[in-house]
Amino acid sequence: GAFDRTPFIAGNWKMNMDHVQGITLLQKLAWTLSDAKHDYSRVEVAAFPPFTDLRGVQTLVQGDDLHIAYGGQDLSQFDSGAYTGDISGQFLNKLGCKYVLVGHSERRTIHNESDEVLNAKVKAAFRHGVVPVLCVGEGLEIRQAGTHVDHTLQQLRAGVAGLTNEQAAELVVAYEPVWAIGTGEVAGPEDAQEMCAAIRSELETLFGADVAAKTRLLYGGSVKGNNAGAILRERDVDGVLVGGASLDPAEFANIVRFES
Ligand code: PGA
Repeated sequence: GAFDRTPFIAGNWKMNMDHVQGITLLQKLAWTLSDAKHDYSRVEVAAFPPFTDLRGVQTLVQGDDLHIAYGGQDLSQFDSGAYTGDISGQFLNKLGCKYVLVGHSERRTIHNESDEVLNAKVKAAFRHGVVPVLCVGEGLEIRQAGTHVDHTLQQLRAGVAGLTNEQAAELVVAYEPVWAIGTGEVAGPEDAQEMCAAIRSELETLFGADVAAKTRLLYGGSVKGNNAGAILRERDVDGVLVGGASLDPAEFANIVRFES
C-alpha cells in the first residue's frame, strides 16, 4: 500500500470465541504485539469479535490502554425499534466500536443481504459515527467466467451510493473473493492488486481523485503469516481482513509485523 494510508490489519473472529475466550485471545495478542522491536504506532490493528464479546473487549482495551481498535461484524440498517435480534450502530458506538463489517460474504449468502440493504447499513454506520468496512468480492463461478471485476465493482457502486466525499474517504473496502475464504486458496498478490486498483479507480470516478487516494482497501481470503507480506506490498492494497489466522495470536501478530 501507499505510505500515506495507514495500514489496516483486521481480524474477523466470525462466530468463534465466547466472551471469556475472547478476552484471553486479545490479551495474548496484545502481549505478543508489545514486543518492543516493532513500532506498531503506524499500523492500525482491529478485531471484529462476536457482539457478546464487545463489552469485555471494551473494558480490556480501555483498562490496559491497548492500541487495538474493535468493531461489530454486522449492524442493523435501522436505528432502534421493533427489530428483534438486530443490533443498532448506536449500540456499537456506545461500546467504543470504531468500525463495523458490512456485507461480509457470509452475511450476503446465509442472510440474503442485498446490495440495497447493505447500502442502508453503510449509511446507518456513518449516521452513528462508526466506520463501515464494506466487503465485496466474487464467487468461483464468476471468477471462472472472467467477470469478477464487473461483479465486484457493481457491489461497490451499490454499497457506496449516496455517500458524501468525506464518508467515502473514511470508508474501508475489503475485497474478499469468496472462493478464497476459509479454503486455503489465496488470490495471488497480483489478483489482489488488480481488483484493488479497479476499486480505487471506480472510487475516483465516483468521488474524485483526492477521495480515492484516501480510501483504504483491504484484501481478505486465507491470509496467513507467510503470504501477508507479498499481498501487503502491492500498491493499492492497504491492509488485510483475516479470518482463521486471526484466532491464533502468534500467527496474527506475524501478519501485523509485515506492516510495521
Ligand atoms: P479466512 O477468512 O482468512 O479464514 O479465509 C477471511 C474472511 O472471511 O474475512
